[in-house]
Amino acid sequence: MRALQAYRFALDPNSVQLADLHRHAGAARFAYNWGLARVKAALAQRDAEQSYGLTGDALTPVPWTLPALRLAWNAAKRDVAPWWDECSKEAFSAGLDQLARGLKNVTDSRKGTRKGRRVGFPRFKKRGKARDSFRYTTGAYGPAGDRRVKLPRIGWVKTHEPMGALTARLADGRARLLGATVSRTAGRWFVSFTVEVDRTVPAGPSRRQRAAGPVGVDLGVKHLAVLSTGETIPNPKHLGSALRRLRKASRSYARSKPGSAGRRQHAARLGRIHARVAHQRRDGLHKLTTRLAKTHTSIVVEDLHVAGMVRNRRLARAVSDTGMAEIRRQLTHKTGWYGSTLVVADRWYPSSKTCSGCGWRNPSLTLADRTFTCQSCELVTDRDLNAAVNLCHLVAASTSETVNARGGDRKTALARRVPVKREPGTATAGQTGSASPQGEAA
Ligand SMILES: [Zn+2]
Repeated sequence: MRALQAYRFALDPNSVQLADLHRHAGAARFAYNWGLARVKAALAQRDAEQSYGLTGDALTPVPWTLPALRLAWNAAKRDVAPWWDECSKEAFSAGLDQLARGLKNVTDSRKGTRKGRRVGFPRFKKRGKARDSFRYTTGAYGPAGDRRVKLPRIGWVKTHEPMGALTARLADGRARLLGATVSRTAGRWFVSFTVEVDRTVPAGPSRRQRAAGPVGVDLGVKHLAVLSTGETIPNPKHLGSALRRLRKASRSYARSKPGSAGRRQHAARLGRIHARVAHQRRDGLHKLTTRLAKTHTSIVVEDLHVAGMVRNRRLARAVSDTGMAEIRRQLTHKTGWYGSTLVVADRWYPSSKTCSGCGWRNPSLTLADRTFTCQSCELVTDRDLNAAVNLCHLVAASTSETVNARGGDRKTALARRVPVKREPGTATAGQTGSASPQGEAA
Protein backbone atom coordinates (compact mmCIF):
# COMPACT_ATOMS: atom_id res chain seq x y z
CA MET A 1 0.00 0.00 0.00
CA ARG A 2 1.15 3.51 -0.74
CA ALA A 3 0.40 5.88 2.09
CA LEU A 4 0.84 9.60 2.32
CA GLN A 5 2.65 10.64 5.41
CA ALA A 6 3.94 13.91 6.78
CA TYR A 7 7.26 14.46 8.51
CA ARG A 8 7.44 17.73 10.37
CA PHE A 9 10.57 19.37 11.74
CA ALA A 10 11.18 22.62 13.57
CA LEU A 11 13.57 24.92 11.71
CA ASP A 12 16.42 26.85 13.23
CA PRO A 13 17.04 29.62 10.67
CA ASN A 14 19.71 32.32 10.97
CA SER A 15 18.63 35.95 10.82
CA VAL A 16 19.05 36.26 7.04
CA GLN A 17 17.09 33.08 6.45
CA LEU A 18 14.44 34.23 8.88
CA ALA A 19 13.88 37.36 6.82
CA ASP A 20 13.73 35.20 3.68
CA LEU A 21 11.14 32.91 5.24
CA HIS A 22 8.97 35.92 6.07
CA ARG A 23 9.48 37.29 2.57
CA HIS A 24 8.39 34.03 0.96
CA ALA A 25 5.30 33.73 3.14
CA GLY A 26 4.54 37.33 2.21
CA ALA A 27 4.95 36.50 -1.48
CA ALA A 28 2.48 33.62 -1.18
CA ARG A 29 -0.02 35.91 0.53
CA PHE A 30 0.56 38.62 -2.08
CA ALA A 31 -0.13 36.25 -4.98
CA TYR A 32 -3.23 34.92 -3.21
CA ASN A 33 -4.63 38.39 -2.63
CA TRP A 34 -3.73 39.53 -6.14
CA GLY A 35 -5.46 36.50 -7.65
CA LEU A 36 -8.54 37.01 -5.49
CA ALA A 37 -8.79 40.67 -6.52
CA ARG A 38 -8.45 39.58 -10.14
CA VAL A 39 -11.20 37.00 -9.79
CA LYS A 40 -13.52 39.49 -8.13
CA ALA A 41 -12.87 42.10 -10.80
CA ALA A 42 -13.53 39.58 -13.57
CA LEU A 43 -16.77 38.48 -11.92
CA ALA A 44 -17.95 42.08 -11.63
CA GLN A 45 -17.01 42.69 -15.25
CA ARG A 46 -19.00 39.62 -16.29
CA ASP A 47 -22.03 40.81 -14.37
CA ALA A 48 -21.92 44.11 -16.22
CA GLU A 49 -21.46 42.41 -19.58
CA GLN A 50 -24.38 40.10 -18.94
CA SER A 51 -26.56 43.08 -18.17
CA TYR A 52 -25.77 44.34 -21.70
CA GLY A 53 -26.94 41.00 -23.05
CA LEU A 54 -23.56 39.38 -23.77
CA THR A 55 -23.35 35.60 -23.38
CA GLY A 56 -20.96 32.65 -23.75
CA ASP A 57 -17.47 33.31 -25.14
CA ALA A 58 -18.09 37.00 -25.47
CA LEU A 59 -17.92 37.31 -21.67
CA THR A 60 -14.70 38.09 -19.82
CA PRO A 61 -13.13 34.83 -18.62
CA VAL A 62 -12.63 34.38 -14.87
CA PRO A 63 -9.31 32.73 -13.87
CA TRP A 64 -10.83 30.09 -11.61
CA THR A 65 -8.28 27.25 -11.76
CA LEU A 66 -4.60 27.07 -10.88
CA PRO A 67 -3.37 26.98 -14.51
CA ALA A 68 -5.54 29.99 -15.38
CA LEU A 69 -4.42 31.90 -12.31
CA ARG A 70 -0.78 31.09 -13.01
CA LEU A 71 -1.07 32.28 -16.58
CA ALA A 72 -2.61 35.55 -15.45
CA TRP A 73 0.02 35.97 -12.72
CA ASN A 74 2.96 35.40 -15.04
CA ALA A 75 1.59 37.99 -17.43
CA ALA A 76 1.12 40.54 -14.67
CA LYS A 77 3.90 39.92 -12.15
CA ARG A 78 6.44 42.33 -13.70
CA ASP A 79 3.98 45.17 -13.26
CA VAL A 80 2.30 44.32 -9.97
CA ALA A 81 5.34 42.84 -8.18
CA PRO A 82 8.59 44.14 -9.70
CA TRP A 83 10.37 42.38 -6.85
CA TRP A 84 9.02 38.97 -7.89
CA ASP A 85 12.50 37.72 -8.75
CA GLU A 86 13.61 37.95 -5.09
CA CYS A 87 11.43 34.96 -4.15
CA SER A 88 11.13 31.44 -5.40
CA LYS A 89 8.32 31.15 -7.95
CA GLU A 90 7.05 28.31 -5.77
CA ALA A 91 5.96 30.83 -3.16
CA PHE A 92 3.65 32.67 -5.58
CA SER A 93 2.45 29.39 -6.94
CA ALA A 94 1.59 28.22 -3.42
CA GLY A 95 -0.56 31.29 -2.86
CA LEU A 96 -2.37 30.83 -6.17
CA ASP A 97 -2.83 27.14 -5.46
CA GLN A 98 -4.47 27.93 -2.16
CA LEU A 99 -6.80 30.36 -3.88
CA ALA A 100 -7.66 27.81 -6.60
CA ARG A 101 -8.53 25.26 -3.92
CA GLY A 102 -10.73 27.79 -2.16
CA LEU A 103 -12.52 28.58 -5.42
CA LYS A 104 -12.99 24.90 -6.19
CA ASN A 105 -14.51 24.39 -2.75
CA VAL A 106 -17.00 27.15 -3.53
CA THR A 107 -17.95 25.46 -6.81
CA ASP A 108 -18.22 22.01 -5.24
CA SER A 109 -20.19 23.36 -2.33
CA ARG A 110 -22.69 25.06 -4.66
CA LYS A 111 -23.02 21.94 -6.79
CA GLY A 112 -23.54 19.90 -3.66
CA THR A 113 -20.57 17.61 -4.32
CA ARG A 114 -18.78 18.78 -1.22
CA LYS A 115 -19.76 17.58 2.22
CA GLY A 116 -20.10 19.79 5.23
CA ARG A 117 -21.18 23.35 5.74
CA ARG A 118 -21.60 25.63 2.79
CA VAL A 119 -18.30 27.18 1.82
CA GLY A 120 -18.05 30.94 1.68
CA PHE A 121 -16.20 32.88 -0.99
CA PRO A 122 -12.44 33.20 -0.29
CA ARG A 123 -11.46 36.29 1.64
CA PHE A 124 -8.38 38.45 1.49
CA LYS A 125 -5.53 37.44 3.77
CA LYS A 126 -4.37 40.04 6.20
CA ARG A 127 -0.73 40.35 7.12
CA GLY A 128 -0.11 39.25 10.69
CA LYS A 129 -3.51 37.59 10.88
CA ALA A 130 -3.38 34.97 8.18
CA ARG A 131 -1.19 31.93 8.72
CA ASP A 132 2.29 32.40 7.28
CA SER A 133 3.04 29.53 4.96
CA PHE A 134 4.30 28.58 1.52
CA ARG A 135 5.02 25.36 -0.26
CA TYR A 136 7.57 23.77 -2.57
CA THR A 137 6.41 21.09 -4.97
CA THR A 138 9.12 21.26 -7.62
CA GLY A 139 12.82 22.07 -7.66
CA ALA A 140 15.70 21.07 -5.46
CA TYR A 141 14.12 21.11 -2.02
CA GLY A 142 14.45 18.47 0.67
CA PRO A 143 16.61 17.21 3.51
CA ALA A 144 20.31 17.83 2.91
CA GLY A 145 21.92 15.51 5.41
CA ASP A 146 20.56 14.80 8.82
CA ARG A 147 20.23 18.29 10.25
CA ARG A 148 19.75 20.64 7.30
CA VAL A 149 16.96 21.32 4.85
CA LYS A 150 17.54 22.73 1.39
CA LEU A 151 14.97 25.38 0.54
CA PRO A 152 15.40 26.97 -2.92
CA ARG A 153 16.20 30.72 -2.80
CA ILE A 154 16.53 30.54 0.99
CA GLY A 155 19.43 28.13 1.42
CA TRP A 156 20.37 25.35 3.79
CA VAL A 157 18.34 25.84 6.95
CA LYS A 158 19.27 23.99 10.11
CA THR A 159 16.65 21.87 11.86
CA HIS A 160 16.18 21.53 15.60
CA GLU A 161 15.98 17.74 15.45
CA PRO A 162 17.71 15.11 13.33
CA MET A 163 15.68 13.90 10.35
CA GLY A 164 17.06 10.35 10.32
CA ALA A 165 13.67 8.64 10.12
CA LEU A 166 12.90 10.45 6.90
CA THR A 167 16.34 10.54 5.28
CA ALA A 168 16.84 6.80 5.73
CA ARG A 169 13.57 6.07 3.96
CA LEU A 170 14.33 8.49 1.15
CA ALA A 171 17.82 7.06 0.70
CA ASP A 172 16.74 3.46 0.12
CA GLY A 173 13.71 4.33 -1.97
CA ARG A 174 10.98 3.39 0.50
CA ALA A 175 9.70 6.96 0.39
CA ARG A 176 9.25 9.66 -2.21
CA LEU A 177 9.04 13.41 -1.58
CA LEU A 178 5.88 15.06 -2.90
CA GLY A 179 6.20 18.50 -1.41
CA ALA A 180 7.35 20.62 1.49
CA THR A 181 5.24 23.15 3.34
CA VAL A 182 7.03 25.80 5.35
CA SER A 183 4.89 27.51 7.95
CA ARG A 184 5.01 29.51 11.13
CA THR A 185 3.22 28.53 14.32
CA ALA A 186 3.45 30.48 17.54
CA GLY A 187 6.59 32.28 16.40
CA ARG A 188 8.44 29.19 15.21
CA TRP A 189 9.04 28.01 11.67
CA PHE A 190 8.45 24.41 10.64
CA VAL A 191 8.93 22.40 7.51
CA SER A 192 6.49 19.59 6.83
CA PHE A 193 7.42 17.11 4.13
CA THR A 194 4.62 15.28 2.38
CA VAL A 195 5.97 11.86 1.57
CA GLU A 196 4.62 8.85 -0.25
CA VAL A 197 5.64 5.76 1.68
CA ASP A 198 5.47 2.15 0.59
CA ARG A 199 3.95 0.04 3.31
CA THR A 200 3.24 -3.64 3.47
CA VAL A 201 -0.17 -3.80 5.06
CA PRO A 202 -1.49 -6.95 6.71
CA ALA A 203 -4.90 -8.19 5.55
CA GLY A 204 -6.17 -8.32 9.11
CA PRO A 205 -5.07 -8.54 12.70
CA SER A 206 -2.13 -10.77 13.55
CA ARG A 207 -2.30 -13.64 16.03
CA ARG A 208 -0.72 -11.41 18.63
CA GLN A 209 -3.33 -8.73 18.05
CA ARG A 210 -6.17 -11.26 18.22
CA ALA A 211 -4.81 -12.60 21.49
CA ALA A 212 -4.86 -9.11 22.98
CA GLY A 213 -8.30 -8.24 21.56
CA PRO A 214 -9.84 -4.77 21.62
CA VAL A 215 -8.78 -1.95 23.92
CA GLY A 216 -10.67 1.08 25.21
CA VAL A 217 -8.79 4.37 25.59
CA ASP A 218 -9.84 7.15 27.90
CA LEU A 219 -7.86 10.35 27.43
CA GLY A 220 -7.19 12.51 30.41
CA VAL A 221 -5.34 15.58 31.51
CA LYS A 222 -3.68 14.25 34.62
CA HIS A 223 -2.52 11.21 32.69
CA LEU A 224 -2.17 11.00 28.96
CA ALA A 225 -4.56 8.06 28.85
CA VAL A 226 -6.06 5.18 30.81
CA LEU A 227 -6.46 1.88 28.97
CA SER A 228 -9.16 -0.69 29.59
CA THR A 229 -6.36 -3.16 30.37
CA GLY A 230 -5.81 -1.20 33.57
CA GLU A 231 -2.66 0.45 32.36
CA THR A 232 -2.18 4.17 32.96
CA ILE A 233 -0.07 6.01 30.42
CA PRO A 234 1.66 8.92 32.15
CA ASN A 235 1.93 12.33 30.57
CA PRO A 236 5.13 13.18 28.73
CA LYS A 237 7.87 14.60 30.92
CA HIS A 238 7.75 18.35 31.53
CA LEU A 239 4.11 18.61 30.48
CA GLY A 240 3.10 19.43 34.04
CA SER A 241 5.33 22.47 34.26
CA ALA A 242 4.25 23.60 30.80
CA LEU A 243 0.62 23.35 31.93
CA ARG A 244 1.38 25.44 35.01
CA ARG A 245 3.02 28.08 32.83
CA LEU A 246 0.04 27.94 30.53
CA ARG A 247 -2.34 28.58 33.42
CA LYS A 248 -0.26 31.54 34.56
CA ALA A 249 0.01 32.96 31.07
CA SER A 250 -3.76 32.70 30.55
CA ARG A 251 -4.34 34.65 33.76
CA SER A 252 -1.94 37.42 32.76
CA TYR A 253 -3.55 37.60 29.37
CA ALA A 254 -7.02 37.87 30.85
CA ARG A 255 -5.91 40.71 33.12
CA SER A 256 -4.24 42.75 30.37
CA LYS A 257 -6.03 45.67 28.78
CA PRO A 258 -7.73 44.93 25.45
CA GLY A 259 -5.88 46.53 22.54
CA SER A 260 -2.75 47.28 24.54
CA ALA A 261 0.81 46.37 23.62
CA GLY A 262 0.96 44.28 26.77
CA ARG A 263 -1.98 42.26 25.62
CA ARG A 264 -0.26 41.49 22.33
CA GLN A 265 2.79 40.29 24.20
CA HIS A 266 0.73 38.16 26.54
CA ALA A 267 -1.12 36.69 23.56
CA ALA A 268 2.13 35.78 21.82
CA ARG A 269 3.46 34.15 24.97
CA LEU A 270 0.23 32.27 25.52
CA GLY A 271 0.35 31.03 21.93
CA ARG A 272 3.92 29.80 22.34
CA ILE A 273 3.12 27.83 25.48
CA HIS A 274 -0.05 26.42 23.93
CA ALA A 275 1.94 25.18 20.95
CA ARG A 276 4.49 23.64 23.27
CA VAL A 277 1.90 21.77 25.29
CA ALA A 278 0.27 20.54 22.09
CA HIS A 279 3.62 19.32 20.74
CA GLN A 280 4.49 17.46 23.91
CA ARG A 281 1.16 15.72 24.03
CA ARG A 282 1.30 14.91 20.35
CA ASP A 283 4.67 13.29 20.84
CA GLY A 284 3.36 11.14 23.67
CA LEU A 285 0.27 10.24 21.68
CA HIS A 286 2.36 9.10 18.72
CA LYS A 287 4.17 6.56 20.87
CA LEU A 288 0.90 5.37 22.38
CA THR A 289 -1.07 5.09 19.12
CA THR A 290 1.67 3.15 17.34
CA ARG A 291 1.80 0.66 20.17
CA LEU A 292 -1.98 0.27 20.37
CA ALA A 293 -2.46 -0.09 16.62
CA LYS A 294 0.25 -2.77 16.55
CA THR A 295 -0.93 -4.80 19.52
CA HIS A 296 -4.76 -4.77 19.50
CA THR A 297 -7.53 -5.76 17.09
CA SER A 298 -9.63 -2.64 17.69
CA ILE A 299 -9.01 0.60 19.47
CA VAL A 300 -12.11 2.26 20.87
CA VAL A 301 -12.08 5.97 21.61
CA GLU A 302 -14.72 8.44 22.60
CA ASP A 303 -16.18 10.92 20.19
CA LEU A 304 -15.18 14.55 20.54
CA HIS A 305 -17.03 17.12 22.65
CA VAL A 306 -18.78 14.88 25.10
CA ALA A 307 -15.66 13.99 27.00
CA GLY A 308 -14.78 17.66 27.12
CA MET A 309 -18.21 18.82 28.16
CA VAL A 310 -18.81 16.22 30.75
CA ARG A 311 -15.51 15.71 32.39
CA ASN A 312 -13.38 18.79 32.10
CA ARG A 313 -13.60 22.50 32.46
CA ARG A 314 -11.79 25.38 30.83
CA LEU A 315 -8.13 24.68 30.20
CA ALA A 316 -8.36 21.00 30.93
CA ARG A 317 -11.14 20.74 28.43
CA ALA A 318 -9.26 22.48 25.64
CA VAL A 319 -6.24 20.28 26.20
CA SER A 320 -8.22 17.08 26.25
CA ASP A 321 -10.24 18.09 23.19
CA THR A 322 -7.17 18.67 21.08
CA GLY A 323 -5.77 15.38 22.33
CA MET A 324 -8.94 13.63 21.29
CA ALA A 325 -8.79 15.02 17.78
CA GLU A 326 -5.12 14.15 17.55
CA ILE A 327 -5.46 10.56 18.77
CA ARG A 328 -8.23 9.95 16.23
CA ARG A 329 -6.21 11.44 13.43
CA GLN A 330 -3.21 9.29 14.27
CA LEU A 331 -5.19 6.11 14.78
CA THR A 332 -7.01 6.63 11.50
CA HIS A 333 -3.75 6.08 9.61
CA LYS A 334 -2.04 3.67 11.94
CA THR A 335 -4.85 1.15 12.29
CA GLY A 336 -4.83 0.99 8.49
CA TRP A 337 -1.12 0.24 8.49
CA TYR A 338 -1.18 -2.47 11.13
CA GLY A 339 -4.36 -4.39 10.34
CA SER A 340 -6.37 -3.12 13.31
CA THR A 341 -9.60 -1.13 13.44
CA LEU A 342 -10.51 2.23 14.92
CA VAL A 343 -13.92 2.45 16.55
CA VAL A 344 -15.38 5.75 17.67
CA ALA A 345 -18.06 5.49 20.33
CA ASP A 346 -21.34 7.20 19.82
CA ARG A 347 -21.29 10.84 20.83
CA TRP A 348 -23.85 10.36 23.58
CA TYR A 349 -22.55 7.15 25.01
CA PRO A 350 -22.16 7.76 28.77
CA SER A 351 -18.87 5.92 29.22
CA SER A 352 -18.15 7.59 32.56
CA LYS A 353 -21.58 7.17 34.09
CA THR A 354 -22.13 3.52 33.25
CA CYS A 355 -20.92 0.71 35.48
CA SER A 356 -18.44 -1.40 33.56
CA GLY A 357 -19.41 -4.39 35.68
CA CYS A 358 -23.21 -4.52 35.31
CA GLY A 359 -24.35 -1.60 33.16
CA TRP A 360 -26.04 0.35 35.96
CA ARG A 361 -26.02 4.10 35.34
CA ASN A 362 -25.17 6.80 37.77
CA PRO A 363 -26.66 9.97 36.29
CA SER A 364 -25.54 12.08 39.22
CA LEU A 365 -21.83 11.41 38.76
CA THR A 366 -20.06 14.75 38.97
CA LEU A 367 -16.78 16.15 37.72
CA ALA A 368 -15.24 15.79 41.13
CA ASP A 369 -15.95 12.08 41.47
CA ARG A 370 -12.69 10.36 40.68
CA THR A 371 -14.02 6.97 41.70
CA PHE A 372 -16.98 5.15 40.26
CA THR A 373 -19.06 3.34 42.85
CA CYS A 374 -21.81 1.07 41.59
CA GLN A 375 -24.95 0.89 43.71
CA SER A 376 -26.12 -2.23 41.92
CA CYS A 377 -23.14 -4.62 41.85
CA GLU A 378 -20.97 -2.73 44.34
CA LEU A 379 -18.08 -2.33 41.93
CA VAL A 380 -15.64 0.36 43.03
CA THR A 381 -13.18 1.47 40.40
CA ASP A 382 -11.21 4.40 39.08
CA ARG A 383 -13.41 6.69 37.04
CA ASP A 384 -11.18 6.79 33.95
CA LEU A 385 -10.56 3.06 34.02
CA ASN A 386 -14.31 2.47 34.23
CA ALA A 387 -14.81 4.65 31.16
CA ALA A 388 -12.06 2.86 29.24
CA VAL A 389 -13.50 -0.56 30.07
CA ASN A 390 -16.94 0.57 28.91
CA LEU A 391 -15.47 1.71 25.61
CA CYS A 392 -13.76 -1.63 25.20
CA HIS A 393 -17.07 -3.41 25.91
CA LEU A 394 -18.62 -1.67 22.92
CA VAL A 395 -16.50 -3.79 20.61
CA ALA A 396 -16.28 -6.90 22.76
CA ALA A 397 -20.07 -7.08 22.71
CA SER A 398 -20.21 -7.31 18.95
CA THR A 399 -16.97 -9.20 18.13
CA SER A 400 -14.23 -7.41 16.30
CA GLU A 401 -14.93 -9.11 12.93
CA THR A 402 -18.42 -7.74 12.83
CA VAL A 403 -17.31 -4.25 13.63
CA ASN A 404 -14.69 -4.53 10.97
CA ALA A 405 -17.23 -5.44 8.34
CA ARG A 406 -20.44 -3.71 9.19
CA GLY A 407 -20.00 -1.28 12.04
CA GLY A 408 -22.65 -1.57 14.70
CA ASP A 409 -25.22 -3.54 12.72
CA ARG A 410 -24.91 -6.58 14.89
CA LYS A 411 -27.93 -7.02 17.13
CA THR A 412 -26.43 -7.39 20.55
CA ALA A 413 -28.05 -5.54 23.37
CA LEU A 414 -25.18 -3.14 23.86
CA ALA A 415 -24.38 -2.52 20.26
CA ARG A 416 -28.00 -1.80 19.48
CA ARG A 417 -28.34 0.58 22.33
CA VAL A 418 -25.04 2.15 21.50
CA PRO A 419 -24.40 2.19 17.78
CA VAL A 420 -20.72 1.91 17.03
CA LYS A 421 -19.55 4.22 14.32
CA ARG A 422 -16.62 3.38 12.12
CA GLU A 423 -14.17 6.06 11.30
CA PRO A 424 -14.48 6.95 7.62
CA GLY A 425 -11.26 6.46 5.74
CA THR A 426 -10.05 3.46 7.64
CA ALA A 427 -12.88 1.39 6.29
CA THR A 428 -11.04 -0.94 3.96
CA ALA A 429 -7.54 0.43 3.96
CA GLY A 430 -6.21 -2.85 5.24
CA GLN A 431 -8.17 -5.12 2.95
CA THR A 432 -8.02 -3.48 -0.43
CA GLY A 433 -4.81 -1.55 -0.20
CA SER A 434 -6.35 1.19 -2.29
CA ALA A 435 -7.27 3.73 0.30
CA SER A 436 -4.28 5.67 1.44
CA PRO A 437 -4.65 7.40 4.75
CA GLN A 438 -3.90 11.04 4.37
CA GLY A 439 -0.99 12.38 6.29
CA GLU A 440 -1.19 15.63 8.11
CA ALA A 441 -2.27 18.26 5.66
CA ALA A 442 -0.06 21.09 6.68
ZN1 LIG B 1 -22.37 -2.41 38.62
